[in-house]
Amino acid sequence: MENTVKADAKARLLEYCREYAEQNGHPPLAYVYSFGCQQNVSDGEKLKGQLSLVGFGFTDDTEQAQLIIFNTCAVRENAENTVYGAVGGLKHLKEQKPDLIIGICGCMAQLKHVADKVKSSYRQVDLVFGTFAYNELYAMLCTVIFDKRRVFELSENSTDISEDFVQIRDSRIKAFVPIMYGCNNFCTYCIVPYVRGRERSRKPEAVIDEVRKLIDEGYKEITLLGQNVNSYSYGFPALLREIDKIDGEYRIRFMSSHPKDATNELIDTIIDSRHICKTLHLPVQAGSDRVLKAMNRRYTTDDYLKIIDYARSRMPGFSFTTDLIVGFPGETEEEFEMTKALIKRVGYDNIFSFVYSRRSGTPAANMPDDTDDKTKGLRLRELLLEQRENIEKLFSRFVDKEALVLVEGKGRQMQLTGKNDEGIIVEFDGDESLIGQFVAVKINRFANWALFGEITKGKAE
Ligand code: SF4
Repeated sequence: MENTVKADAKARLLEYCREYAEQNGHPPLAYVYSFGCQQNVSDGEKLKGQLSLVGFGFTDDTEQAQLIIFNTCAVRENAENTVYGAVGGLKHLKEQKPDLIIGICGCMAQLKHVADKVKSSYRQVDLVFGTFAYNELYAMLCTVIFDKRRVFELSENSTDISEDFVQIRDSRIKAFVPIMYGCNNFCTYCIVPYVRGRERSRKPEAVIDEVRKLIDEGYKEITLLGQNVNSYSYGFPALLREIDKIDGEYRIRFMSSHPKDATNELIDTIIDSRHICKTLHLPVQAGSDRVLKAMNRRYTTDDYLKIIDYARSRMPGFSFTTDLIVGFPGETEEEFEMTKALIKRVGYDNIFSFVYSRRSGTPAANMPDDTDDKTKGLRLRELLLEQRENIEKLFSRFVDKEALVLVEGKGRQMQLTGKNDEGIIVEFDGDESLIGQFVAVKINRFANWALFGEITKGKAE
């Protein structure tokens, strides 16, 4: 029954796009913009895939678009304001083009207060749908186009994973492959479990098949995605080992990896592999056990450091990166100093640090917080300065050594840019024809954001 509804809606949209193209000399164009994390980018690529199947073309210009979709993120409150600003700016366009369809989807759209606000204050928006409704896209578009009705679809009724999708990927070199959806962890600051539901893992065969096809198509870097890949229900290290058996010239990355579920087996799998980058993004969030408990992270700094130490005992240069939250409710100056001490102790190749952002509906939003914004801002600056000092020591380990670099595009200071195994930017001179290939680069200097060097082999073996 459901498939018939979907097929009918698909047929109606195919007809709509065909007629539109006949009248206008080109297909209706869709503008799809994804905010936020890689998971969202991947969802946006699937939306584009669905639209392409019924005949939509694509544009980067909202003025040319017949359909505009903002695929939103809910992690930070100010991201919401960015989306309201973006749809607010489209009011005039909608007045000039009443047939223009404007949609908001993704994590932010899953929040009821957002849908209510859009319903009453952003009349130009025709379509709001949450993260469970991507499969209903055709039916929702039909309601807007043919029934001339606004659609608000926030139900959480689907726990199935559809493997029946086409993706229009933004890159020809790097691809995102979700291995699971949702999160079970309920960290007290995070809205994700409320908007993406409980964990659902894709079958290993489906993931491996997709990765194999991407490698055959020439993709060089595959990033496996999940809110916590370590709780992939079919066993994450086992999945990595199976993927690693695929022959070809490619590398594997993954994120995110929750420290409470990271194991020595995971570290061994990475180190013993042929294609998995020798780096681990392990979000610690804070250096104080009291704060970690208040965050409901369910590990201590000792647990965390055991993983780091094990990896470094097997491979001294093993690279770690992390996420940090500064100014979590109740964080004292002393606790902040513990975070600084932790980043010094670990020696991260990169940190992604943010001032705590209050999300209504999460437990942390109701925790007492007597640290003012100015102090939090100063702590963030201090943390970044500490990291900058650490980098001086860390990056020197690459100098005079050769790095395998996937060339991604034009550089900021030199002709080309790419990333090494550890995910650090590497710039060097070379021909643009190398974009999309692996090259060996001998590093001769560094800044706090990149390594610089010269190509020693046009194409690394
Ligand atoms: S692990 Fe924690 S921070 Fe990550 S998505 Fe789940 S709840 Fe949010």
